[in-house]
Amino acid sequence: MFFFLQISSFVDAFLFQMLLDLYPVQNFTVEQIEYEKNTRLLQPIWDFMTKGNEHILSSPLFPPFYALSIDYTWVAVFTIIDLWFSEVPFFKNAKIQKDRKVTWELMKQSLKLQACNQLLYIYPMALVQLIWVPPTELPILAPTVFEMLSQVAIFFLSFDFTYFWFHYFSHKIKWLYRWCHSVHHMYSSPFAASAQHLHPFELFFVGTFITTIPWIFPTHCMTYWLWFFVAQSVSYEVHIGYDFPFALHRFFWFYSGAPAHDMHHLRPLTCFQPWFNYLDRLMGYHITYEDLKKMTEAKLKKFGVYSSGEEKGLIKIN
Ligand SMILES: [Zn+2]
Ligand SMILES: [Zn+2]
Repeated sequence: MFFFLQISSFVDAFLFQMLLDLYPVQNFTVEQIEYEKNTRLLQPIWDFMTKGNEHILSSPLFPPFYALSIDYTWVAVFTIIDLWFSEVPFFKNAKIQKDRKVTWELMKQSLKLQACNQLLYIYPMALVQLIWVPPTELPILAPTVFEMLSQVAIFFLSFDFTYFWFHYFSHKIKWLYRWCHSVHHMYSSPFAASAQHLHPFELFFVGTFITTIPWIFPTHCMTYWLWFFVAQSVSYEVHIGYDFPFALHRFFWFYSGAPAHDMHHLRPLTCFQPWFNYLDRLMGYHITYEDLKKMTEAKLKKFGVYSSGEEKGLIKIN
């Protein structure tokens, strides 16, 4: 135990020093602020965003409503595509599970659960923030490009790594799966809205995690908002059910994209990592549709299916 504490305090001290080196505390003089304002690449965008909008952007209500607006936008775009454009050749060719049509009936059940989650948990929590969260401070300076991109990359890696383990144990510990994560697996063929088809506990865990990761640095609010946009957009991307020719996973082999997470919904004991796939590859859980076709009966049992007893009584929508 003592040894463990020693190691962890050493790691903490090392990480803290690393962060100080990466993002030194800057106390600028008035002249330096003027100089930085004229040289930072993101300054014109920051000035444009904040000018006249200070009262909206600094409100404690802004982050939750900004996050919800990202949700609604992605759900609206892909609901329109699924319901009205799924027969257009471009989308038809890109559809991953071609035999599973996304219908309004399927979506309605997910949207009902999400409406409940939002009315019971998200909106009340947003209103509670009005009481105990102070207004966001809007700095004069924009972040530097290095600061913004490197911090978002660190948040991305940290979330992806931690969520892998949360997700892995949500499948391996059977009561945890049955009680909580099985709600997300009511759909074996995902579509955009099903990204948020979550048990309230999982919604709380993921929401809190995405919100609090940036607290490890004194994060600029512009970086914070970009992180929200990236985290939510990628979570929707892996659920859209389409493998587009321009998808990132085609260019970066370590990026999961929609095909891997689609596979996870089809075979829930594979492809646990949400955004990258290096842990799945290391642990032998990364499989593709090509692998699935080649599998023998014995392998099918090992990879990706619960026994009928384990799934007994759980609701399945598709
Ligand atoms: Zn999913
Ligand atoms: Zn899962």
